[in-house]
Amino acid sequence: MNYRQATWERETESGEAVNEPLLSEKRTETVTHDDVDLPDELVRDELTLPEPAEPEVASHYTRLSQMNYSVEHGPYPLGSCTMKYNPKFTEDVAALEDGAIHPDRPDEYAQGTLAVLHGLQEYLAEIGGMDAVTLQPPAGAAGEFTGLLVARAYHRSNDEDDDRREVIVPASAHGTNFASAAMAGYDVVELPSDEDGRVPVDALEEAVGESTAALMLTNPNTLGLFERDIEEIAEIVHDAGGLLYYDGANLNALLGRARPGDMGFDIMHYNVHKTFASPHGGGGPGAGPIGVVDELTEFLPDPHVREADDGSFEFSEPPESVGKVHGFHGNWLVLLKTYAYISRLGDAGLKDTSAMAVLNANYLASQIDLDVPYGPFHHEFVASAGDVDAAEFAKGMLDEAVHPPTTKWPEIVDEALMTEPTEALSKDQLDVLADAFTAASQKTPEELAAAPTTTAAARIDQTSAARNPRLSWRDVEEAVEEVDE
Ligand SMILES: *Cc1c(COP(=O)(O)O)cnc(C)c1O
Repeated sequence: MNYRQATWERETESGEAVNEPLLSEKRTETVTHDDVDLPDELVRDELTLPEPAEPEVASHYTRLSQMNYSVEHGPYPLGSCTMKYNPKFTEDVAALEDGAIHPDRPDEYAQGTLAVLHGLQEYLAEIGGMDAVTLQPPAGAAGEFTGLLVARAYHRSNDEDDDRREVIVPASAHGTNFASAAMAGYDVVELPSDEDGRVPVDALEEAVGESTAALMLTNPNTLGLFERDIEEIAEIVHDAGGLLYYDGANLNALLGRARPGDMGFDIMHYNVHKTFASPHGGGGPGAGPIGVVDELTEFLPDPHVREADDGSFEFSEPPESVGKVHGFHGNWLVLLKTYAYISRLGDAGLKDTSAMAVLNANYLASQIDLDVPYGPFHHEFVASAGDVDAAEFAKGMLDEAVHPPTTKWPEIVDEALMTEPTEALSKDQLDVLADAFTAASQKTPEELAAAPTTTAAARIDQTSAARNPRLSWRDVEEAVEEVDE
């Protein structure tokens, strides 16, 4: 079955893209009296209608959506990104709210909004086993950065900031961990994985010391493996005076079952646009709330929503706040959708989510022929494309009307295909995905090199896209001329 239901064939064999003009290039030609023989007295001189007309606009966007691929087209197992289906009831809730509140409205007239934000802070604190949560950071990476600013403020309050200059990050971590630590002013110490894909406790013991500000960990890690020694790891870091940071991107594996706070983590971020299904992809919008333990709450960003003695809600500035990381209420509509999602699912629903996410990943892995070197895993697994370049393998999967997995990361698996089906896929869709793996692995190198043949665009020039991006629809020279004029 073809989930994409493609409605066009690519126009040329040479790999050019199917083209859809820009909206600004579209003109709607309506029938005029020149086309029809009308009595003179019925002819109006001039009738100017806005163009393009609404049906043209609708078909333009529909066509663009068909040239694209989304979670609503079919399987989208992009490992680590948790591309789960976004249920429409959360969109309905957000649509009710859209534009309803001015960000400067005084707290006493924004009690409903503040109650939702406060409720979400409480939900997330409970889910993560944290003492306090801020909803301000607009993405996971921004949460990491904020969390590390909080860590620095804490060490500074102990007069240790000058000495604690290092953040330890395992080699399998997401690139944002390294970047956030560097942006927060730290030296990054990379910790290699041991042969079973986890943090080597001996090596950690050696790396940790008086210069350690924090260890950043993802658990389960990017191989889908649970760090079994997590309590010992926490003890080692804490004994050295460091803090333990939890990258929450894989929280979907643990929802309702285990809590980072109980494992000994001091700071964590939540990728609500992954774990709690609010829209994700194409760079936004998202939100990356962070949770912290008691000792760190005074450093949280400003503003923070708190409940006053009389039961009302208000924005307040934590006493030793690291300052602002976002304006006003954070990414309010994303947060509202998260609140709706958690409220609708409840305890039992969240538990089902993690159970199905793990079950689906394990079922899918059992249906494919590729080597999966590390396991048993949780909600995602990393298969190896073996002798084949993982990016080529992924191109081959595109022709099977699925989105391919994340490729070439984590680097500890050769030609990695990091696969996360999420709980949202049916057995039917998981089988479609398994067939796509099989089909790609049966393709010859020539067939892979020619793929994809059924998508709107063939192979784009990735180097030019990165080095020489043209982000305007206008001809460059024309635009320059216009500016000169
Ligand atoms: C997605 C992800 C991040 C970064 O989160 P964003 O919300 O995309 O900024 C960090 N760590 C891991 C493991 C991730 O998968």
